[in-house]
Amino acid sequence: MIMRMILNDLLNLFYPRLCLVCQTPLVKGEDHICLLCSNHLPYTYFTDMKDNRVSRLFQGKVPFVAATALFYFLQKGSSQKLVHSLKYHGNKKLGYELGRLAVTAYRESGLFDTVDLLLPVPLHPKRMKQRGYNQSEWIARGIQSVTGIAIDTSSLSRIKRTESQTRKQRSERHKNVEGIFHPSNADALKNKHVLLLDDVITTGSTIGACAEAIKDIPGIRISILGITVV
Ligand SMILES: [Zn+2]
Repeated sequence: MIMRMILNDLLNLFYPRLCLVCQTPLVKGEDHICLLCSNHLPYTYFTDMKDNRVSRLFQGKVPFVAATALFYFLQKGSSQKLVHSLKYHGNKKLGYELGRLAVTAYRESGLFDTVDLLLPVPLHPKRMKQRGYNQSEWIARGIQSVTGIAIDTSSLSRIKRTESQTRKQRSERHKNVEGIFHPSNADALKNKHVLLLDDVITTGSTIGACAEAIKDIPGIRISILGITVV
């Protein structure tokens, strides 16, 4: 134990862990993000779960209980750096931390109080193989570590692979995701309040397609949480 602590300190001396946002070396007790950057993350502070930038994307399209996001996604800003690290640099443990931050930010709102299942937006199996993990599942694990809510990664499947959404126009994005998700175990979602989770919500077309795929399951209630909203 002591040897390992000494080894960690030595490793940190020669290969310091850096803040993902400002690149300064992290000190003990800091993970992924330094304290200064943590204090300046672009929190949305949405308190109305029915009327905010995220919920407005789904109003009149899919029925939902609550919809929100933790941070604004700012181009070249801290939240973009975090999402890139989570998605493209193999930093799955950051997803865990972001999930925990989401619980801290939304515990008071009651967002997690009635949720039965956490439902990370599924990746296509091929993409999953490429990346080695589903970033949204790691966000779910962080939420679970605090709330104890179960994670369901098998009842909703991605049946089609889509081209990247980033270069598409808004109208194209909706077409691009039509029918790509399928409830592989509708029974497991019956009469459940599920919380759909994704890292980035842009037009809401991807997470909206998930909601669309499960909205007719008897007794289901759907809530939506993004780590960032563009
Ligand atoms: Zn920093």
